[in-house]
Amino acid sequence: MSDKNTDRVIVCGGGLSGLAAAVAALEGGAKVMLIEKAPELGGNAAISNGVIWSFSDFERIRAEIPDGDPVLQWLVHDSIDAAWAWLESQGATLSPKTFNPELGRNERTIVAPQAIAALADQFQRLGGEVRLQSGLDALITQDGVICGVRMACNGRTQDEAARAVVIATGGFQGNTELLARYVVRDPDNLYLRGNPWQTGDGFLAATQIGAAASPGLDTFYGHALAAPPARISRQSFRDYTQWYGQQSIAVNLHGERFADESHGSSEHALNQALAQQPRGMGFYIVDQELMDAPAVKGKEQLTRVIFERARAAKAPIAVADNIEELCRQLGAFGVPENRLFQEITQFNRLIDSGHAGNLKPPRKRNRKSLTRAPFYAVGVKASITFTMGGLLIDERARVLRRAGTTSPLAPLPETRPSMATDAATIAIGTDYRQSAIEGLYAAGCDAGNIGHFGYMGGLGPALVTGWTAGKSVAGFVKG
Ligand SMILES: Cc1cc2nc3c(=O)[nH]c(=O)nc-3n(C[C@H](O)[C@H](O)[C@H](O)COP(=O)(O)OP(=O)(O)OC[C@H]3O[C@@H](n4cnc5c(N)ncnc54)[C@H](O)[C@@H]3O)c2cc1C
Repeated sequence: MSDKNTDRVIVCGGGLSGLAAAVAALEGGAKVMLIEKAPELGGNAAISNGVIWSFSDFERIRAEIPDGDPVLQWLVHDSIDAAWAWLESQGATLSPKTFNPELGRNERTIVAPQAIAALADQFQRLGGEVRLQSGLDALITQDGVICGVRMACNGRTQDEAARAVVIATGGFQGNTELLARYVVRDPDNLYLRGNPWQTGDGFLAATQIGAAASPGLDTFYGHALAAPPARISRQSFRDYTQWYGQQSIAVNLHGERFADESHGSSEHALNQALAQQPRGMGFYIVDQELMDAPAVKGKEQLTRVIFERARAAKAPIAVADNIEELCRQLGAFGVPENRLFQEITQFNRLIDSGHAGNLKPPRKRNRKSLTRAPFYAVGVKASITFTMGGLLIDERARVLRRAGTTSPLAPLPETRPSMATDAATIAIGTDYRQSAIEGLYAAGCDAGNIGHFGYMGGLGPALVTGWTAGKSVAGFVKG
């Protein structure tokens, strides 16, 4: 098999990371076949908001996401400018770089379908071969070394030989069994805020041949959306995202606050806590002042606009001139009125009396009581856009082997170099030993532990790890 395919690479997944890897591998001189399970390329990247961002300070990344892998976080931080320029050189149109001071992020925005089409065109121009509706089913190895993939197409399996494989299948958020195993007691607690194809096929195939799973498998990115009976289509995830959660009082169906709403750099942390509540549901409660404020500081959309969309979609809603009446209305949705009334009045009292530090759960930021009538409550349900845990990779996007299963044919164990300038900030043990699986790479959401509960963005890591994987795999097959 491998004699005829000494420089052939198969990239599994045609979203942002897979396309970036595929084009970069062609640029590096490899022969590339891209297999995509869906009928079209683009993955979640194609339906995203298109903001490719990274925190401007590495210290901020470590503060927001201390449990993520510092080497991979550094890779994204250090490479994002060059990766933007590379993407632009492929024909994608990117907005000028802007700094969002509230969020501490450098951002550039793509029109996602245009950027995906530009990469796909470039892939074809450079001689790449695409197979749609062809999903990675299993990895084929010989003596512990990758030599091809088994793919499922039109109900049949087919084997394809390759010297190396890039896994870029976009995470396991579409697989309820894996969600129940790693993420949440009841996967019904989560809407899927993304495409249905990302079912952990790459994660399963790689771990089947001995790849290590990363830390953070239980953490994920998503936002609360308008709760049922609201119906939300793939095209309207953005419209029903309840961005203002960090400024609200968030209660579960027992009428109790369950988390510090203000935690983290966006509403994703609250969403993760909401997922663990009964039915993954609750209410975000705001007053008129918050209603007229931007849902996210530094962004222009007003909370009122989001509220009106949720109301139009028939999400559970309450509006009242006083807190007592609001609680009475929420009683009709099964929330215990008295408990809820106590919770809101206690929240207001502790904040107004200067004792916000006594709040349980705490409230570190956005310490503002709800005082200006009318008061509003929106039924919300947690969602998952992508899983943050995945395969353990190194800074060259090589998939690492589970400790203890090192094949004698695999390259010798290496110490991972510290890529950071500040060795004190990043303590990577010098005794860290793990070997790569020869010929196996991963990128995008399949590359685990860049975010870990805290959010590092999805498109930035996908672009950087995909580009990195493509360059590395080309070096491997050519070198
Ligand atoms: C509504 C929405 C808005 C978003 N907005 C932003 C934003 O503004 N900024 C940001 O940073 N992130 C955003 N994201 C997240 C971002 O889109 C993802 O993090 C990013 O697309 C991940 O890239 P990826 O290549 O890993 O996965 P994807 O882009 O999802 O691509 C994975 C591909 O693999 C394919 N696949 C799955 N299984 C197989 C298989 N067995 N064989 C072959 N192919 C397979 C899938 O069909 C898919 O095409 C958003 C996501 C959504 C859904």
